[in-house]
Amino acid sequence: MIQGAPPDVVKASQLLSCSTCALVNIGVNREDLSKAHMTYFYDEDICFSRLGFPHMLTARNAPPGTGSIQAEVYFSDKYKPFTGTPDAWIEPVIRDPPALRSAARLRQNTVQQNDASALCERDFRSRSSCSSETVHGYLDDLGIAYCGRYGDWGYMWTDESFKSGEQAAEKAFVHAMAASF
Ligand SMILES: Cc1cc2nc3c(=O)[nH]c(=O)nc-3n(C[C@H](O)[C@H](O)[C@H](O)COP(=O)(O)OP(=O)(O)OC[C@H]3O[C@@H](n4cnc5c(N)ncnc54)[C@H](O)[C@@H]3O)c2cc1C
Repeated sequence: MIQGAPPDVVKASQLLSCSTCALVNIGVNREDLSKAHMTYFYDEDICFSRLGFPHMLTARNAPPGTGSIQAEVYFSDKYKPFTGTPDAWIEPVIRDPPALRSAARLRQNTVQQNDASALCERDFRSRSSCSSETVHGYLDDLGIAYCGRYGDWGYMWTDESFKSGEQAAEKAFVHAMAASF
């Protein structure tokens, strides 16, 4: 997005690939859906990689006596391009595990999350770190403090992203203080 960025920096940024996620959100008329807050699925014949149960995280996420399920279906431009619409994944998600099939009176909606996660490719470490170093070096030269999943370019959890934001704010503060003297 930076006008006039050098071509090698632009090229390096284009090598950083990420996933797209179709989030299928399902409302269920009961709450005893799972013992775990999150469950991962590694089977290739199951379309989603993870199920989350938001009603278990806080009582405010669903009305009393009801539950919610969020299924994460992942794609990437490079390996598994997303085609069609997020809504097209409602039926495959509901069809997949018996737990979802047997849940009565489902209400669903979907969200398409572009730029979901930095993609961990086979050559992720070498290629991605090389590309992100180029981009970070350029931002350092401009005095831009970057942070978070996409600023740092890493597979980061929420708490790590938060800490990264704090560190960037401190860096910007030190930079501003140094400039004022
Ligand atoms: C499907 C999914 C499930 C996840 N589950 C978990 C989990 O269970 N536990 C966990 O800890 N983490 C989870 N994560 C990871 C967590 O969401 C991220 O680590 C965290 O949100 C990253 O925070 P961030 O501030 O770096 O980026 P984001 O939360 O992505 O925030 C970036 C913000 O910048 C805004 N933005 C982008 N471009 C511009 C622009 N040009 N101008 C202005 N604003 C802009 C965006 O709209 C967004 O609000 C999950 C992520 C995904 C995608």
